[in-house]
Formats: sequence, C-alpha cells, structure tokens
Amino acid sequence: MHCPFCGKQDTKVTDSRLVADGDQVRRRRQCNACSERFTTYETAELVMPRVIKGDGSRETFDEIKLRAGMLRALEKRPVSAEAIEAAVERIRQRLRARGEREVEAREVGEEVMRALKRLDQVAYIRFASVYRRFQDLDEFRAEIDRLAQEPTFPPNDDQ
Ligand SMILES: [Zn+2]
Repeated sequence: MHCPFCGKQDTKVTDSRLVADGDQVRRRRQCNACSERFTTYETAELVMPRVIKGDGSRETFDEIKLRAGMLRALEKRPVSAEAIEAAVERIRQRLRARGEREVEAREVGEEVMRALKRLDQVAYIRFASVYRRFQDLDEFRAEIDRLAQEPTFPPNDDQ
C-alpha cells in the first residue's frame, strides 16, 4: 500500500473495523516515512472470475452450464435439488474465494468433481470419466478402486 502523500510503501495499520454491515473493512493507516494518516476500504470481490478455456480464449463464468453438467452426471441419482443447489453455491463461493480475476476451466472442472464426489459417487465417476478422459481403462479402474477405499464424506464437510 503506497502512502498517498509521499508514495512510500512503508505504512502501518493503526485500526481495522468492519463497516457496511460487515461487507467492507475500513483500515486506518499511518505512513512510517512521513507520518501522514489515511484510510483504506477493502471489499471482497463478489464478481465471478472469468474462465480461461483450453484454447486460451476467455468466457464469462456460466452457472447454467455448470449446473447442466452436474445435472447430467446426476441423472436418475438419489440427490435432492436442494443438495445440488447448495453444491453449486459452494462451487461459486470457492471460485470467488480464490480472489483471482480468471480461473482455468480445468480448475472449475476440478471443483465440480470435488462437489460431485460428495454428492454421489456414481455421478462423480460419470463426470470424471468424461471430464478427465482417463488415458486408459486401467487408470479408470484405479480411480474407482481408490474411491471404494475412501470414506464417504458427510454432506457438509468442507474439506
Ligand atoms: Zn508518507
């Protein structure tokens, strides 16, 4: 953080508090070089990052497309619409929490797999088999074996 008075970078925070119903952090800072005081406001970035596709092109994050991909994998599986919506929201939160303006499509795919793995392992395998394009059948079997050995996640475990 540059001091707006002298331009030096050496500033210290003298006070921090939440404002705007907790959506903003207001910080009082003091410059260690010229001793001037100033205030900064930080707001969490609420917009979704743009998605970098495999060919390098960028597109707007498309929640409808994301949900459609998940629903396809979850077809005829015993998972409630509510649980799916919660998973979509969690993916959005996790992508936003990266604080990046852009994320790779691959990373979005990994988040979807992570979410599906918690919701339903059959859906996860369906999605992963298309998404990861397993190199060969052995790799695919290894993943299924690995899954079979893993404990199932409780629905709200966030790890
Ligand atoms: Zn200064």
